[in-house]
Amino acid sequence: MRIDKEIIHPIHPQHKLKLVYTETPFKCDGCKEAGIGLKYACQRCEFDLHKTCAVAPATINHPFYKGCEFEFKYKHPGREMRICDACRNDVVEFVYHCKGCGFDMHPCCANLPQALDDGERHLYLYLKLSSSCHHCGGKGPGWSYRSQCKTINLHVSCAKELLVESWQAMHLKVDRNKVREMQTRIPGLKGTSKNQHARGGKVSQIAGGAARLIVSAILGDPTAIISAVIGGFLS
Ligand SMILES: [Zn+2]
Ligand SMILES: [Zn+2]
Ligand SMILES: [Zn+2]
Ligand SMILES: [Zn+2]
Ligand SMILES: [Zn+2]
Repeated sequence: MRIDKEIIHPIHPQHKLKLVYTETPFKCDGCKEAGIGLKYACQRCEFDLHKTCAVAPATINHPFYKGCEFEFKYKHPGREMRICDACRNDVVEFVYHCKGCGFDMHPCCANLPQALDDGERHLYLYLKLSSSCHHCGGKGPGWSYRSQCKTINLHVSCAKELLVESWQAMHLKVDRNKVREMQTRIPGLKGTSKNQHARGGKVSQIAGGAARLIVSAILGDPTAIISAVIGGFLS
């Protein structure tokens, strides 16, 4: 696939957006979720889009919802607040929506790889959890990644929480103000620790490499390079 180094995007038509790579988490101005890695950024304003969000095709199909056609929308056509069926986070703006059944997916969630390989094991994406999630201990709704050997079971939403916790822990040691600033900039990073009882760094021990890989996929850029970067968050 051809990747344009520069694009003009309809929601920010006044300036060109340039493809850049960043190791600092950013907030995507399209889907409003956190991102890392490749993004299209305005060099003049503080405006960023996940690469996936910036070049989202108008319609897509998804292996989990056979027979559905998902349309890309800048804003959800419904009036009530919607959540993403994959990660269970709010849908604020950019979304893939199926008119027929009402399923919604963030563009990055729609692009989550069906299989990830961390060098040691394969992780597969599932629509439902079959056994308890390593992070929240539950079997609640939302997609999950499971390893072939079944030792790793992690909600996509929990992997996001894990990233936030690790990221915050890392920065709390360094600079409290930085954490607060980041929380303001990326609303998705705020108050996500609903599962206090289930914490304790267990996941990063069991599944260090695997968790890193899942997290980088979730942040919109499933590449091995990024998993190394995020290693800092989880160790
Ligand atoms: Zn986005
Ligand atoms: Zn601009
Ligand atoms: Zn449908
Ligand atoms: Zn999502
Ligand atoms: Zn979970």
